[in-house]
Amino acid sequence: MQAGAHKPSIVPGSAGPAGTLGVMGGGQLGRMFVHAAQRMGYRTAVLDPDPESPAGLISHHHVQTDYLDPKGLGTMRQLCGAITTEFENIPAPAMQALAEHRPVAPAAQALAIAQDRRLEKAHFQRCGVACAPYAVIDSEQDLEAASAALLPGILKTARLGYDGKGQRRVRDRAELATAWADLGRTSCVLEQQLALEAECSVLVGRGWDGAMVHFPLQYNLHRDGILVRTEVIAGRLPPELEARAVAAARAVAQGLDYVGVLCVEFFVVRCAQGRPALLVNEIAPRPHNSGHYTIDACDQSQFDLQVRTLAGLPLCQPRQHSPAIMLNLMGDLWFDGQGGCGAACTPDWPAVLALPGAHLHLYGKLKAVRARKMGHLTLTGADEARVRATATQAAALLGITPD
Ligand code: ATP
Ligand code: MG
Repeated sequence: MQAGAHKPSIVPGSAGPAGTLGVMGGGQLGRMFVHAAQRMGYRTAVLDPDPESPAGLISHHHVQTDYLDPKGLGTMRQLCGAITTEFENIPAPAMQALAEHRPVAPAAQALAIAQDRRLEKAHFQRCGVACAPYAVIDSEQDLEAASAALLPGILKTARLGYDGKGQRRVRDRAELATAWADLGRTSCVLEQQLALEAECSVLVGRGWDGAMVHFPLQYNLHRDGILVRTEVIAGRLPPELEARAVAAARAVAQGLDYVGVLCVEFFVVRCAQGRPALLVNEIAPRPHNSGHYTIDACDQSQFDLQVRTLAGLPLCQPRQHSPAIMLNLMGDLWFDGQGGCGAACTPDWPAVLALPGAHLHLYGKLKAVRARKMGHLTLTGADEARVRATATQAAALLGITPD
């Protein structure tokens, strides 16, 4: 049980650990957490072994050790009044070790569930939230016993998958056996491949006292297992679907006795009765790529909410003030954009920034690599027509495939 335990009261502007927030992991999510915390007057500490990590580069303190290094964890405990994470594969024992001395949110137990698709799906079932039909594949026997109804399906490693990595699409038993061998016969889940009408996500924030707030339903477009675009525009998805998704996300957070920001990803599928069915895909125990638009389009961002939950500050229901479209800026744009220059060259940011309502976020990664998330661009506008027109222009300028 986490809520209520060791509730911190970390007040912006205080000296030493009383005014310092820590984050495990130094990627772009950590960087945007640091931005939010520093804007509010906190000092920050980041633990990440990479000397060039996007969050480490801008934090007051950067502890450059492995996540399980006792010295590094000791330094974080000395520096910080409370500690969160930006990377779901931080070893749960590292969070456990920190939690013995400092408030930590989310708790190691919630991370451990989010890190393993088998535990995650069992949790959804406990909360009464439907997910895609699936089977756990831990052994040769499980492989043989898997129901034919799950094929065609997607075999996913139970642990350490992200951006579609660690997944194989399989049509029949022969392909299933080959795929499992290919994934190293590690623990997996086999999910039925669904005909998706849409994908969407909800971000909830839950405080130490169990209070919850949420952001609007986010409509997400993926390509090759990677999020490419998020739209949050009133009326884009039916309000009753939004109400169901928010209720499901809150149930999942409550069931974990979660503290912090949690993203719940959903599939929308057509069911026999005609009403769209909502199935939960997975959770991210942290802010999420699909919530980046909140920085520019809401009265508080998902990172502001992460700061508030961690520090034990009051939570207020966020309000979206502009319709928004977020485009992910993948490393490919440095090679293929604007007619394709072949070698790495910088996209034409001045042209993009000449568009009203364009908000550019680059993560400070020094090297563009294909399929690497280098930044994102959020377009806001007074109404749907204007935000769509600007997004179309921005995508054309950058060489992003229109949808
Ligand atoms: P993330 O980067 O979100 O952590 P991931 O690697 O954990 O991604 P998933 O979210 O499981 O991967 O899947 C990535 C994408 O693949 C989904 O957003 C969806 O587009 C597609 N996908 C996954 N599972 C299914 C399914 N059972 N049926 C149809 N499409 C699916
Ligand atoms: Mg996903």
